[in-house]
Amino acid sequence: MLDLIVRGGTLIDGTGAPRATADVGIRGGRIAAVGRIDEPARRTLDADGLWVTPGWVDVHTHYDGQVTWDSLLTPSCWHGVTTVVMGNCGVGFAPVRPGSHEYLIKLMEGVEDIPGTALAEGIKWEWESFPEYLDAVERIPHALDVGAQVPHAALRFYVMGERGADHSVHPTPEEIDTMGRLVRDAVRAGALGFTTSRTRNHRASDGRFTPSLTATAEELVGISRRFGEAGSGVFEIVSDFPDPEAEWELLREMVAASGRPMSVSIAQSDISPDAWRASLRKLEEANAAGLPMRGQVAARAIGTLLGLEATLHPFISHPSWAEIAALPLAEKVARLRDPELRRRLLSEQSAPGLRMFADPERIFALGDPPDYEPPREKSVAAEAQRRGMSPDELLLDLMLANGGRALLYRPLLNYSAFDLGAIREMLVHPFTVPGLGDAGAHCGLICDGSFPTYLLLHWGTARTRGEKLPVEELVKRQTADTASLVGLHDRGALLPGRKADLNLIDPDGLAIAHPEIVYDLPAGGKRLVQRARGYRATLVSGEVVLENGEPTGALPGKLVRGPQRA
Ligand SMILES: [Zn+2]
Repeated sequence: MLDLIVRGGTLIDGTGAPRATADVGIRGGRIAAVGRIDEPARRTLDADGLWVTPGWVDVHTHYDGQVTWDSLLTPSCWHGVTTVVMGNCGVGFAPVRPGSHEYLIKLMEGVEDIPGTALAEGIKWEWESFPEYLDAVERIPHALDVGAQVPHAALRFYVMGERGADHSVHPTPEEIDTMGRLVRDAVRAGALGFTTSRTRNHRASDGRFTPSLTATAEELVGISRRFGEAGSGVFEIVSDFPDPEAEWELLREMVAASGRPMSVSIAQSDISPDAWRASLRKLEEANAAGLPMRGQVAARAIGTLLGLEATLHPFISHPSWAEIAALPLAEKVARLRDPELRRRLLSEQSAPGLRMFADPERIFALGDPPDYEPPREKSVAAEAQRRGMSPDELLLDLMLANGGRALLYRPLLNYSAFDLGAIREMLVHPFTVPGLGDAGAHCGLICDGSFPTYLLLHWGTARTRGEKLPVEELVKRQTADTASLVGLHDRGALLPGRKADLNLIDPDGLAIAHPEIVYDLPAGGKRLVQRARGYRATLVSGEVVLENGEPTGALPGKLVRGPQRA
């Protein structure tokens, strides 16, 4: 007797094999059989006309705080994700000493734009060491599986105290060794890896750069050596590559010293729009030299959403905005219709550091359904010219639509050529995996937890401005490939013996909703969320956790401790 049969679906099984019609039989949370199944089952899900895929494995999230108060892990659960990996970009909440909580909150608030008040109210701090944090996460039931990584910034602050956040000092050899041993022991206790940030884009809310920014080769290679003693785990790194040769040399040294694989963020910046190609070549060289290194790439441009309730919009630094900034949305909208305020607001200038968020040449109305690959002719500047009005006036009018809830889209990375051609090249590269969605983070700025849905929808079926990609390959990329990146070989493919994490998807109904701002974080904190349509059912360990976008109440998700065998 099977627990469940998924009957007659179109299997896209995560291996890259061509789709085929088959049943999936599930017993004890695992896939028991795939093919034509006659064995009886307690429950049958009719998948006729639906795609049946493995659940998505999202290796780049920031649920480190949310995981302690939210069993569902929205928005990822709405997007077919069945395993989330957190602790990315060197930030997180363990290890932590009593009295240091506030700094880690400020860091997360600054780097990932998660409201500090929400974190302060939401997190119960039932841990000091990383293994204790794993235990605390494990005690909370979740809809999805969760994997954790050791964040360098927290580790530094734990070992070095305040000095850990001071970029003019370096750790002593003893402190480096202590950090390395703590990483090793955390990985032995079940952490999936170690992460660090080397980008100037990451600052705490007190203005200081993230602690790991200036870590030396001595520190990073020293930690890597000890990390390697654990015999498992992966690195996740984000870097600005200010001196690409030296940086790649350092990253290779870390991989060589530890024997552990690494993924590195790769994106196109407008400042040097071809540098990502050189990074892909560096990945090829490293792999040819036997160093397992992957690029983590995005499914679309990484862009900021601008709106009256968002963290940023084109007029946020205009002096007249300050008059209405604290008003409820409806009153803001009413005041912005007042010709006198409007005239003043439009006559003022953005602060120099914020002009990139007021550039009408690179801002687009997001639209509903959202268009994440708008042509240059659809920019606010081009549209304003067509309408014979000033771009600023149009920016303001567009944000006032839908009761002031409309959002503008300002692509920041991967959109230098006003299309996603660069992304396509990144996605098909043999040494990349999809990631960088930052689910759980950038609450008022970016809403990319929908990357997994977008990857399948845009690249598989919806794209109109260039070549698409085979659906079988896209599914493999965000199931088998991402799972194996972090050592989880027990999932990511619809094969007998694997975990029964599945999606049943209506290919014609698949859609991404317009992002919206909600106030559902602890302490009424605000965040952008985005729903999807077309996920008929999502299963974790053989249990249906969401049906047509609504949670069923089942919470079979577990903390994943360490790598898992096929
Ligand atoms: Zn991140």
